[in-house]
Amino acid sequence: MTSRPKSYSPRSGADLPRFAGIPTFMRLPHVDLETATQDVDIGIVGVPWDGGTTNRPGARHGPRQMRDLSSMVRNVHHVSGIMPFELCNCADLGDTSVNPIDLEDTLARVGEFYRALRGAGVMPLTAGGDHLITLPIMRGIFDGRRLGMVHFDAHTDTWDSYFGNSKYTHGTPFRRAIEEGLLDPKRVVQIGIRGSLYTPNDKDWGLSQGIRVIEIEEYSELGPDRVIDIARDVVGDGPTYISFDVDALDPVYAPGTGTPGIGGLTTFDAQRMLRRLRGLDLVGGDVVEVSPPFDPSGNTALVAVTMMFEILCLLADRVASLGRKQPG
Ligand code: MN
Ligand code: MN
Repeated sequence: MTSRPKSYSPRSGADLPRFAGIPTFMRLPHVDLETATQDVDIGIVGVPWDGGTTNRPGARHGPRQMRDLSSMVRNVHHVSGIMPFELCNCADLGDTSVNPIDLEDTLARVGEFYRALRGAGVMPLTAGGDHLITLPIMRGIFDGRRLGMVHFDAHTDTWDSYFGNSKYTHGTPFRRAIEEGLLDPKRVVQIGIRGSLYTPNDKDWGLSQGIRVIEIEEYSELGPDRVIDIARDVVGDGPTYISFDVDALDPVYAPGTGTPGIGGLTTFDAQRMLRRLRGLDLVGGDVVEVSPPFDPSGNTALVAVTMMFEILCLLADRVASLGRKQPG
């Protein structure tokens, strides 16, 4: 195996203190999309956009605060021992282009960015942004095989429309993704679902499509390990995406989000579940809905980037099992 270019190592905290320097995701080098096509295996991307938000906005500021707090991330996963930055070339690919006053245009821009990543063989790990961004991400990475998904959220995000006929909001991405044939509903599991509904039959559509919905009450009965056994059965061995909405967590852990709901997951249980997803055919992931104006302390962003590191370890382990790109 050719040796990895030194430039893909995160900047060491023993070399430059973690509070210093230009904040990139996990202190990785910032690489532009064109350079990434040569030898980046996993690209960490920000999508600074909240134009799909129906209530409390601010997720457009998520990636910047998440970059800042991600300076806390070190090199080795303390349980699995996975060292993602040794296993493959990881880089901060910057933020996608967005248009803060035009939803459709933004969906096109984001989709184009991820299509380029797919063309380059770069696996994406994304910091949102509101949850609508997962739709253009899936459009971009779709390779003809429908995706499965492990989805952590307080909400199903499978509503049809808002305000009459608005089909694209952060409450609708997975309905659109299923309609567009990007997601296979029978390979989708949703974990942490809770909260009051709009109408008594809000749950019907997803269930009728075959989505496995694990509401927080069932989760509480089964516990995190058993829930992930079920999740692994649902997604099987096909290509699978991990989407993590921070509002899956209880707002005591993640208050800085647009649609908080009490009675949620603990951070530790979420980490424990993510770790048990190792070995799936993972093709990417995201952590979305961090809204810094609702948590200026940065704790929600710290929680989010810690979940990103958990997911990064899974993706890196997958890349390593496939044999990573040779440096260009
Ligand atoms: Mn969501
Ligand atoms: Mn949610």
